[in-house]
Amino acid sequence: MNEFEAGRPVVLRGGTVLPMDGRRVLTRTDVLVTGDRIAAVGPELEAPEGAAEIDATGGIVMPGMIDTHRHMWQTVMRGYGADWTLTQYFVWYYLEHGKLFRPEDVHAGNTLAAIEALDAGVTTVVDWSHGLRTPDHADAAADALQAVPGRYVLAYGNIQQPPAEWTAAPEFRDFVRRRVTGDDLLGFQIAFDVTGDPSFPERPAFEVARELGATVTTHAGVWGATSDDGIRLMYDHGFMTPGTVYVHAASLSADSYHRIAATGGSISVSTESEQSAGQGYPPTWAIRAHGIPVSLSMDTSVWWSGDLFSAMRTTLGADRSREHLEAHAKGETVTHCALRADQVVDWATRGGARAIGRDDLGTIEPGKKADLVLIKNDASPVSFPLLNPFGHVAFQAQRGDVHTVLVNGRVVKHEHRLLGIDLAAVRAQADSTIEYLRGEMGEEAWERGMNPDIPSAKVLDNPYTYTDYRSDATHRL
Ligand SMILES: [Zn+2]
Repeated sequence: MNEFEAGRPVVLRGGTVLPMDGRRVLTRTDVLVTGDRIAAVGPELEAPEGAAEIDATGGIVMPGMIDTHRHMWQTVMRGYGADWTLTQYFVWYYLEHGKLFRPEDVHAGNTLAAIEALDAGVTTVVDWSHGLRTPDHADAAADALQAVPGRYVLAYGNIQQPPAEWTAAPEFRDFVRRRVTGDDLLGFQIAFDVTGDPSFPERPAFEVARELGATVTTHAGVWGATSDDGIRLMYDHGFMTPGTVYVHAASLSADSYHRIAATGGSISVSTESEQSAGQGYPPTWAIRAHGIPVSLSMDTSVWWSGDLFSAMRTTLGADRSREHLEAHAKGETVTHCALRADQVVDWATRGGARAIGRDDLGTIEPGKKADLVLIKNDASPVSFPLLNPFGHVAFQAQRGDVHTVLVNGRVVKHEHRLLGIDLAAVRAQADSTIEYLRGEMGEEAWERGMNPDIPSAKVLDNPYTYTDYRSDATHRL
């Protein structure tokens, strides 16, 4: 029990509020939360009797951030793959050691990732959960997400089997029946990739998704793995539908972007990931011209940070960097930035809400769900002057500045501390998974995995072993 017991109204007083309806900034503004909703936004609001008061002066109140693609089970190996390429990731998880994960290991990763997200003000995460090789793994993933008071979408996947196989399994149907119950805090998607094999072996999986009314999320435009061929097959067979989320979309042609734009899908950009793993150049500079909706994601903590401040910062930097580079190649100078700070804040909030079909999230206005973040750190010399709040969020703020977080009207972090979270228990669970993995792999393989050498022989660079298909688009000789 804490001072914010369930049902007690909360008012955040006197903050700089970013409602996320364009570049509007509301200074010295209150936000009143009753139940699971935002009840009012305005100066000096009258709060109901007994409301908890949170002093937001000197801080920024923004919608909770939304990550549309995170492999949460991998958070338990945080930082292990810091020096990996995408190929090394594929080999480790898809081909060699990913199968070692037991249900309790998926649970450990998901729990840690879910808590980490809340701590950083990421109130909704799409768990791109592609380690679900048995229904027990899937139950463990869902159990973990439901035990942490954040908002999650379980995007069900299984890299150990062709999508047509695992989506056809009765156990998968049974899981959907049991666990996809319309819980407002646990949504559902289906997660698999499209290889581009002309026989389109992924077709039955799309049909299952259609039958279940589930959104498909897919890694598209990933150099060496997925390409324009997959997009064309999805398009030709009528599976590019509004709501489809294309992750990365970093090495696609204008033709594919046209198809995505025309069919109402959105792109989840993972700039930190694209910059170092090799899917392709972070694509916002290209897709802005096509009017495709953008959301942000961080992909996996096996390399990268789990906070969207980094995602905003790197995305803004990568986009501007590309514009400068292209201009310089033509002997020209960029005199005005096309991509503004408020735009990446929009992608991290409203963009994510749109991508997952939740128009009740991502903005601050009466009637919307109360998923809120207060960025405020009175002890930090970076907290003032607060002249340009969007610039502050995109370039200055960090997870340590996340003072208060609400999800569904419930205060889950206050005064920089998570409420009701037993971090020691989570740490023990993570430790036990790491101990198990090290034991199974052996110390030498474990060390070698974390410290990749530079091989002399060609190594396998495509993770999809259920088809022999290879495309010129990604495997030019
Ligand atoms: Zn991914």
